[in-house]
Amino acid sequence: MAGSSSLATNFAKRLQGKVALITGGVSGIGESTARLFARHGAKVVIADVQSELGHSVAEEIRSESGQPVSYVQCDVSKDSDVENAVNTAVSMHGKLDIMFNNAGITGKYDPSIFSVEREDFSKVIDINVYGGLIGAKHAARVMIPEKKGCILFTSSFASVCYGGIPHAYTASKHAVVGITKNLAVELGKHGIRVNCISPGGVPTPLSAKVMGGVDLKTVQEAYMAISNLKGVPVDAIDIAEAALYLGSEESKFVSGLNMIVDGGFGLTNSGFS
Ligand code: NAD
Repeated sequence: MAGSSSLATNFAKRLQGKVALITGGVSGIGESTARLFARHGAKVVIADVQSELGHSVAEEIRSESGQPVSYVQCDVSKDSDVENAVNTAVSMHGKLDIMFNNAGITGKYDPSIFSVEREDFSKVIDINVYGGLIGAKHAARVMIPEKKGCILFTSSFASVCYGGIPHAYTASKHAVVGITKNLAVELGKHGIRVNCISPGGVPTPLSAKVMGGVDLKTVQEAYMAISNLKGVPVDAIDIAEAALYLGSEESKFVSGLNMIVDGGFGLTNSGFS
């Protein structure tokens, strides 16, 4: 069958020669994705606000994978930082193939309407929505002349579940799905695919903080208990695998998708209340 042999041949290194920029790549889902992408032959630039940790994570992945992996300081809510991160990836590696707009915050974790505060709401939208949007803008700027590219966002199961989740976070993750679809249409004519991933509960520093500062094992057990896939522990690597598929040639005809990776949680649970 045409094409199948080349896919099978390249399966071990599914991102060979690709350049990926991952925001929020110092921790959790972003860090796992950076590791997996590098293992699959990608040159990776990690963009984050945690400078000290960022340099050491990049160094660790670089020595583990043998791939060029670097860190760039970047607050995704600042247009100039995101522009600089994209320009850094292009000046280091000559192009940008995959832009993963993954950085995100939960904001104040109180789901009540009576706890909504303007400043907190705006901060969540600034980072989770505007940050991703300008990431897409600067990526598109360098991808359009190449007539190809892949833009990914991290949304959340908050885009399909209702209740028990703070309004700012829910609003931001619904917005990410809408933006994904808009951009898939707008950028599709330039050969650029745009998709998002909606993780279920994943044990990361973000979810540990939401649960009041518990350890990651406790978070994992809590999420396993509410998953439909009984006994299957979820990890950030499971979201990274989804990003690998969406960033690789195997998904070359997939665009505008909200890929829900939640162990079926959203099918039987409307939320947490
Ligand atoms: P995490 O806290 O482990 O990682 C988030 C990273 O984003 C951190 O390294 C942090 O420094 C960085 N970051 C925060 N603000 C930033 C900014 N302004 N600019 C650049 N970087 C910034 O959390 P995670 O769980 O890996 O979250 C990654 C994404 O996954 C987020 O968008 C989050 O909303 C989403 N998500 C997480 C879960 C979960 O259960 N962990 C579920 C659904 C969606």
